[in-house]
Amino acid sequence: MLLKIVQAGTPVLRHKARSLTPAEVRGGPIQMLIELMRETMRDAPGVGLAAPQIGEPLRLAVIEDQVTRDEAERAPVPFHVIVNPEVRFRGDPPHMLDFFEGCLSVEGYQAIVPRAREVTVNALDHRGEPITIDASGWYARILQHEIDHLNGTLYIDRMYPRTYSTARNVSSFWLGHAPGEIMKALGDGEG
Ligand code: ZN
Repeated sequence: MLLKIVQAGTPVLRHKARSLTPAEVRGGPIQMLIELMRETMRDAPGVGLAAPQIGEPLRLAVIEDQVTRDEAERAPVPFHVIVNPEVRFRGDPPHMLDFFEGCLSVEGYQAIVPRAREVTVNALDHRGEPITIDASGWYARILQHEIDHLNGTLYIDRMYPRTYSTARNVSSFWLGHAPGEIMKALGDGEG
């Protein structure tokens, strides 16, 4: 069974979601929700799905990435669950990376979004046990994107607005181009 993914403009996407207790995480309803979110994410397909995206105001997200893309520091991440996550940027100041990013709740569009290259996340796992994740590159981007969802934030709040593009145009114009070059071409309106 697949869950319906809600789109931008749906109030639940803009509210801070509520925490879960370890006992709730272990309980039948949340275990069922995790299974359905996994299926829904894989079907979409996506590399992350946060509970507010399927209309549940809970601090829970599922993540899985099977893609390798060296220039984006992207490598496969096995399926896992984060509950009540807290994210901390590493580095002082943190090293930021710019890449096109999309969202299953902003269907058909992408934009360049700056994200911290290295983060540490403290969370509970699918059994309600505490975990610490040290992530970098694309995985760090996914974590920041999903945790934003739990706080009512979408990537469009963080994007460089002038890079907002249809996904089709990203494929047509910008595949293989460096983010800096794209920013120059779209960024200042002078070109
Ligand atoms: Zn999203």
